[in-house]
Amino acid sequence: MSLEVQTTCPYCGVGCGVIASINDAGSVSVKGDPAHPANFSRLCSKGAALADTIGMDGRALYPEVDGIEYSWEHALGYAARKLRSIIDEHGSDSIAFYVSGQLMTEDYYVANKLMKGFIGSANIDTNSRLCMSSAVAAYKRAFGSDTVPCCYDDLERAKLIVLAGSNAAWCHPVLYQRIAKAKKQNPDLIVVVIDPRQTATCDLADQHLAIQPGTDHILFKGLLHYLTQQDEVNHLFVSQFTEGVEACLDEARQSAASLDAVATRCGLAVSDIKRFYTLFSRTERVVTVFSQGINQWSYGTDNGNAIINCHLLTGRIGRPGMGPFSFTGQPNAMGGREVGGLANQLAAHMTVENKQHRQLVKDFWDSPFIPEKAGLKAVDLFKAIHTGKIKAVWIMATNPAVSLPDSSFVREALDKCEFVIVSDCMRNTDTTRYANILFPAQTWGERDGTVTNSERRISRQRAFLPTPGQARPDWWIIAKVAQQMGYTEAFNYERPFEIFKEHAALSGYHNTSDKEGVQRDFDISGYADIDEPLYDAMRPLQWPITKDNPDGTTRMFTDGRFFNTSGKAQFITVKSHQPASVTSEVYPLILNTGRIRDQWHTMTRTGKSARLSGHIQENFIALHADDAKQYGISENSLVTVTSAKGQLVVRANVCDSQQRGNVFIPMHWNDQFSGNGVVGKLLDAIVDPVSGQPEFKYTAVKIEEKIPAWYGFILSRRKLKISHASYWSVSRGRGLWRYEVAGDEAAGDWANCARQLLCQNASNVEWVEYFDSAQGRYRGARIENGHLESCIFIGPDQDLPERDWLAQLLEKESLKEDERISILTGKPLAGQPDVGRIICSCFNVGLNTLKDRIEKQHLTTVEAIGVALKAGTNCGSCVPELKRLINPAK
Ligand code: SF4
Repeated sequence: MSLEVQTTCPYCGVGCGVIASINDAGSVSVKGDPAHPANFSRLCSKGAALADTIGMDGRALYPEVDGIEYSWEHALGYAARKLRSIIDEHGSDSIAFYVSGQLMTEDYYVANKLMKGFIGSANIDTNSRLCMSSAVAAYKRAFGSDTVPCCYDDLERAKLIVLAGSNAAWCHPVLYQRIAKAKKQNPDLIVVVIDPRQTATCDLADQHLAIQPGTDHILFKGLLHYLTQQDEVNHLFVSQFTEGVEACLDEARQSAASLDAVATRCGLAVSDIKRFYTLFSRTERVVTVFSQGINQWSYGTDNGNAIINCHLLTGRIGRPGMGPFSFTGQPNAMGGREVGGLANQLAAHMTVENKQHRQLVKDFWDSPFIPEKAGLKAVDLFKAIHTGKIKAVWIMATNPAVSLPDSSFVREALDKCEFVIVSDCMRNTDTTRYANILFPAQTWGERDGTVTNSERRISRQRAFLPTPGQARPDWWIIAKVAQQMGYTEAFNYERPFEIFKEHAALSGYHNTSDKEGVQRDFDISGYADIDEPLYDAMRPLQWPITKDNPDGTTRMFTDGRFFNTSGKAQFITVKSHQPASVTSEVYPLILNTGRIRDQWHTMTRTGKSARLSGHIQENFIALHADDAKQYGISENSLVTVTSAKGQLVVRANVCDSQQRGNVFIPMHWNDQFSGNGVVGKLLDAIVDPVSGQPEFKYTAVKIEEKIPAWYGFILSRRKLKISHASYWSVSRGRGLWRYEVAGDEAAGDWANCARQLLCQNASNVEWVEYFDSAQGRYRGARIENGHLESCIFIGPDQDLPERDWLAQLLEKESLKEDERISILTGKPLAGQPDVGRIICSCFNVGLNTLKDRIEKQHLTTVEAIGVALKAGTNCGSCVPELKRLINPAK
């Protein structure tokens, strides 16, 4: 017998439906929900590995004050009293909340209500500011509302899909798979990828425009001008449903006057630009997907509007198979937008600076205040903490010490802050170390609530696991603090459906199109009378959802009416911009940051999974072979990367996916998984003046090879505390921890150091070792009850044994004699092949295995690999990599 629960994946903005099963023994498995319209049973590698990440290791289980465990009563009371005293002394703007797209809509709603309605400040902002706030601002400028016009079905109905700044294959994998399937079924579907990098998404591309970083808006301004020149303008749509076209076209005419001018600025061939422009102009059904590569600029809002302008000019919006479509990064970035999680928004898509909206929300909440001005956006909020203007911050479900730019500054700010509350499901993150109060929160599997995905679809996350220790829902923690601050009635929630019901009622409150009313896009008043059984049974539907429209709304703007006062969409004149950071002789390279396939955010949860960590085990810098040669860097060497802000050390990945002069480092690594790998410390906190979104995609850096005195690695069944190493990185393996280490000073006595680290004075362990003092090579292994407990390999260079066959030995319950000998010789026995880096996470198929079978069996298709090794036959996330193995030139 097993219990099956329909819930939603907690990672990216695709919002896939998941069926979680828990058997009598308590073991959990997951599969994609065939009934969920986002994914129709597909899951990517991260979703498929969800069951690996729900273990108790590292969980925050008890409230803590200054690191000491206390009762909820004490911790809540202390938090409320301290917040109240700071407000009384310094005013409501001396408090801030920093929340997260990981929260449920219900959590978000309560946090926003407390801050904006009762504390009376708008200083609540969300980490979604970092991933999609430019898209929000662009939509609002164009449509008068934060409305995503499209739906996933449009991807299947399009004839041309333009993926701008979106590595969907790794960042929104299930949508990538939907596009791949649509392309297979309809070979006429054209895919254009606009990205400086040759990403896995390019595997689908009929055309890849490897644009110069930061020039997307020029490319789309050029397109706007080209469409006008070719008279591919929908004159009826433009005249009836839009405003401001002339000024916009004038600017485009001047700054993107010719294909040559655009080509020069974008670093593309004229013929390539012409091909793209011709495709766009001649194809009616065009969806332009945009994501972080468009948003994360100091002019990300203009980037978004440059795209939207092209859709308005051609009238390609509000109809099937077309529209400008922002893919959101986080699972509930959209829900946060809906309830006012951004500092410049009120609840239910209303605006802080709109007097009518303020009054409406104040009346609805019966609250004492609503602030009249927008609060501080994420980067400014942490600056205000640093200056002492903000004296207390409550951070919920996020890790700003890693994810914000200029992370050293953020850490300094938290260190200086008078009062820091952190609510998190994990005990030790780079941020919890600054907490005066740590509130243990529920996590996926324990939480009940709703989330909204990139296509406006609201889905339920449902609990199927008991909550461990004294962890609690975030909404409960916020409501209890609010009540202890004196707001008893307004926060008297017992169950999440009560919060959702209130949120739904507010969305419909005076939301009419009559003269007195304020028409708003976000309306889920169809749920205003929802009860708990209906909440539990909620189907995933797209808002607006009203009593007249109970099944939701597939796409928006079908009638050409927008939410500006005039009812018309606005063309936004987009000026030409340059990135804020400038390369120079000192810092000659452009650093781009982003995600990798199998990690999520700052790894606090995905880092727990051995199969996800198997894909890429160590932080890295991707760079072009010619740059590697120029800077004397060889594959797999250690590289010191320096910017004007800071320095880190990562592993070199010399590859053909980077343009010359451009390097890439992932955003995920934190201090728990690397000694010095947090990329945020390299980035300056430059933001878009409209959206407040930081420029994560362009930082001038320099690189040099780091040559340590020694290199090494350790495999251990127990977690270790690494010292004596100037470089270390750790990842999960199956039942073990893998450490890569290097040091600047040779240890005097390797045997003693290694034994101390791996045996920690344990008795009854067998220690075997080999030391070649002439060459400076050391190998040691701890054997316990016949099994390999840990091993260490040190040498003066990187000529160290492969790790994977040793990891296989650690999985064994007892070692044979020849296996013991193989450890000390550092060479696998015959028949103990090294599978290599894991490419297929679902079936644990490594790179070496794949290369071997492709060669020996002459495998020429992904399908053939699937038959031979099963790789690529489950979640499909590795398919682009399999294709490149078959055809490296692609
Ligand atoms: Fe989760 Fe993957 Fe679906 Fe995103 S695409 S919601 S990470 S399963």
